[in-house]
Amino acid sequence: MAKMIGADCRQCRREGCKLFLKGERCTTKKCAIERRPVAPGQHGTGRKRVTEYGTQLREKQKVKRAYGILEKQFHRYYEEAERMKGVTGENMLSLIERRLDNVVYRMGIGSSRSECRQIVNHGHITVNGKRVNIPSYQVKVGDVIAVKENKRDLDMFKQLKGMKIVMPKWLEFNSDTLEGKVLALPTREDIDLNIKEHLIIELYSR
Ligand code: SF4
Repeated sequence: MAKMIGADCRQCRREGCKLFLKGERCTTKKCAIERRPVAPGQHGTGRKRVTEYGTQLREKQKVKRAYGILEKQFHRYYEEAERMKGVTGENMLSLIERRLDNVVYRMGIGSSRSECRQIVNHGHITVNGKRVNIPSYQVKVGDVIAVKENKRDLDMFKQLKGMKIVMPKWLEFNSDTLEGKVLALPTREDIDLNIKEHLIIELYSR
């Protein structure tokens, strides 16, 4: 399976913002963006002329890296968003946000999207009672997302019990029963990353 390579913190430094790729470390002083907020590499501190294309490209890379999506699949989200009614950029972000690995992350089951992708890949998650091991699975309103019953005793899930988890209003999750629900489809306001999605649409429309 193809996957994104490169050290996580370097990706954040390249994009100049926190992409929250390393779980708990991202909220501590050890975060590389806090310690060294410049682009990686020998010329990271140098000033560069940024073209319009460069700005659009960086915006696209930022979203791809934050959600851990490769180019081909990312482009498919754009194509699908374009066919939908409404604003293409917002549709695209909503589709990406509805990925099962992201929903598991938003529910606080794992501390980073990559960890949540692994949780899904390993078959620890069910949707409406059926095991789903496809991270890109699109959730729908009313879907019940849960940790598989025979996996609930794993330490990584046991430690969630009783935990207060802050999550977007389109989702709910009970950390005692390890079960949650999709209450609505995510809107633009529900997506907290600082993204200018219109730049990505401009890039693909070239
Ligand atoms: Fe990015 Fe997290 Fe590394 Fe900070 S600690 S640079 S937010 S991956």
